[in-house]
Amino acid sequence: MVHSQDVHRGAPNCKDHGAVPENHTPTPDSLRLVAKALEWALSMHLPIRPVPSMLIAFSPFMTNLRKQRILIVEDEPSILDNIAYSLETEGFDPVGCTTGGDALGRFDEGFDLAVLDVGLPDVSGFELCKEIRKTSLLPIIFLTARASELDRIVGLEIGGDDYMVKPFSPRELSARVKAVLRRCGEPEPIIHEPTPSGLPLQIDDERIQVTYYSEILSLSSTEFRLLRLFARHPGRVYTRTQLMNSVWKEPEAAMERTVDAHIKSLRAKMKAVKPEIDPIETHRGMGYALKERW
Ligand code: CA
Repeated sequence: MVHSQDVHRGAPNCKDHGAVPENHTPTPDSLRLVAKALEWALSMHLPIRPVPSMLIAFSPFMTNLRKQRILIVEDEPSILDNIAYSLETEGFDPVGCTTGGDALGRFDEGFDLAVLDVGLPDVSGFELCKEIRKTSLLPIIFLTARASELDRIVGLEIGGDDYMVKPFSPRELSARVKAVLRRCGEPEPIIHEPTPSGLPLQIDDERIQVTYYSEILSLSSTEFRLLRLFARHPGRVYTRTQLMNSVWKEPEAAMERTVDAHIKSLRAKMKAVKPEIDPIETHRGMGYALKERW
């Protein structure tokens, strides 16, 4: 005769096998820990699909879970609709604007990432990016109809984090959005090492700000990460591959030339403050380093 408890979906009876202690009850601390891990995994868009009951159970401990807001600035209604639909399906909260002016007017609403078309009716997407960069490190992806290398490099130099050439599939754009958010939102290790003394460079990890000769540099998130990496070990030469692996969370998506473009832009911004000084050294055939003294 078979008792119902013996055919419990084939699972071993934990009590009999001693796999779980009988008095095992999760403590509020352990629940909080699991909720935090789940919250982080969801915000990073890791490929997990928690069942609804799990989300309900942990939701009291999940304080930061909200849909990430994506600003889309695109004047072609059909492209705008397609992008918005695709992002919404992926769990984002898309907000569409058809002009740069409209986007700037709504900028204070707070966004997690912006997708900017380069060819807009009032200002170019590049101009709009420059305007945004005056006050914000918001991750930016450009949409451009022109595939020339020049446009790509210019886009990165003025502070874009990625770009897509039209025509593109909205699903691919959603994947890029997730990748950029992941690499920009990765929890940063807290650095207790002070900025090297004797250098006119202060790095503020909390404000994500770099002060260079008493002036705050207006950097993209990628440039900030590059400069911070250099500043940890002045004099140390980093190869392009090392820089991609340390600064880009998905290095396979970047190209070595992308590193050069970001370094070029970083140099230009530092040069704008102090034209006679170039604190970044190029080691031909090797890579880049921050000079130990300048
Ligand atoms: Ca357009």
